Amino acid sequence: MFVIKHDKVACIGCGSCAAICPNNWEMTSEGKSNPIEINLDVVGCNKDAEAACPVGAIKIIETKD
Ligand code: SF4
Repeated sequence: MFVIKHDKVACIGCGSCAAICPNNWEMTSEGKSNPIEINLDVVGCNKDAEAACPVGAIKIIETKD
């Protein structure tokens, strides 16, 4: 299992996460991104979104269960 932590304050709204992983990231009317699903069975492209974020606003944490 994986949990996504998203620092909305740090997010500069560049759109990279939504472009790379559109099934799990959306852009909001505030000009920030938003994860659609926080708890994940499979990390998938969220790992790519984490790596692409220019301000380190996405953290993927692997949980024990
Ligand atoms: S990649 Fe990072 S800064 Fe860009 S929209 Fe996503 S969370 Fe925000």
